[in-house]
Amino acid sequence: MTDLIAQDLALEMQSKQRSWLVTGAAGFIGSNLVEALLALGQRVVGLDNFATGHRRNLEEVARLVGADSWRNFRLIEGDIRDREVCAAAVDGAPIVLHQAALGSVPRSIDEPLTSHDVNVTGFINILDAARIAGVERFVFAASSSTYGDEPNLPKREDRIGNPLSPYAATKLFDEIYASIYARSYGFHATGLRYFNVFGPRQDPDGPYAAVIPKWAAAMVADQPIQINGDGSTSRDFCFVANAVQANLRAALASNSAQGEIYNVAVGRRTSLIELFGLLRDGLAKHQRHYSREPQFVPFRKGDVLHSEADIEKARTRLGYLPTHDIFGGLQSALPWYLQSSEGG
Ligand code: NAD
Repeated sequence: MTDLIAQDLALEMQSKQRSWLVTGAAGFIGSNLVEALLALGQRVVGLDNFATGHRRNLEEVARLVGADSWRNFRLIEGDIRDREVCAAAVDGAPIVLHQAALGSVPRSIDEPLTSHDVNVTGFINILDAARIAGVERFVFAASSSTYGDEPNLPKREDRIGNPLSPYAATKLFDEIYASIYARSYGFHATGLRYFNVFGPRQDPDGPYAAVIPKWAAAMVADQPIQINGDGSTSRDFCFVANAVQANLRAALASNSAQGEIYNVAVGRRTSLIELFGLLRDGLAKHQRHYSREPQFVPFRKGDVLHSEADIEKARTRLGYLPTHDIFGGLQSALPWYLQSSEGG
């Protein structure tokens, strides 16, 4: 993972060992953060209740970073809805990277109250625990879903529309609480609005799986693929190394860059039909040939039609520069999809 991190950032990180709390550590983005931090010589506490995360993700990280680095990791198995758990987790961690949440728009439509409990009450629990403990840097996973029905592209941080799903509403509440905490307590939490992140350890299974791991697994298993809508729906797909970089840069950025909201993406969009072709061609290079045509089914409730980020703010204020576009990201991720689909 360190070879995926910009050189200047890696050098800065390796020059000083810090203590970090990563919530949602057994999840997709959280486990990639843990891997990068440990590989860069940092000390990490992970908090997770394994609601959607997996022990196998942490086992994979342990293998990848090696025994010496893995000794710098400690897991707290607990729930962010529990205030005592949050207080224990932030104790001794000056930097918090808060990832724990229930993702997925359709899940939030099926279970709005649980999404609210975890994503809003859990968020304020960890935010408040961090404030009380005097945490120095608090960076949290916000979401591009917050743009809702805002029609203009590319999406700019200061122009949002109405949220279109309970999930989007929870992520908007988080941003509102973050700004209220800055105003009320001078506690500055920095929100990263991720746009469709993908990469190793993103769960391909279950009804709420994200499109890239789901399609990759379906192609490997020669299963049919459904496209919601006519295929023109587009997303700014962001390889996970970019999201990791944004978190580390945000955590180390100057005081003046804290307490802001930043888009984290590549700044380019790809339609679902293009994505289908990219995945099929990418797998063909690994001798996995998929010859089925996609089936088109109705557009999903709560989803937005097009998404593309303006990443200028993150670039100028955080020094964020994505290292991977969708082509480079898929090239790096495909071996993992193949290995995980084959049970390796
Ligand atoms: P994930 O489901 O893989 O990871 C979330 C982790 O949080 C899991 O390990 C889960 O077990 C843990 N968790 C859930 N509820 C918890 C609770 N009550 N207490 C403790 N831990 C709990 O999802 P991800 O894709 O890695 O997402 C990480 C964050 O990024 C989330 O906040 C998500 O909303 C946000 N986000 C992700 C994307 C994306 O494209 N993946 C896009 C926008 C925002």
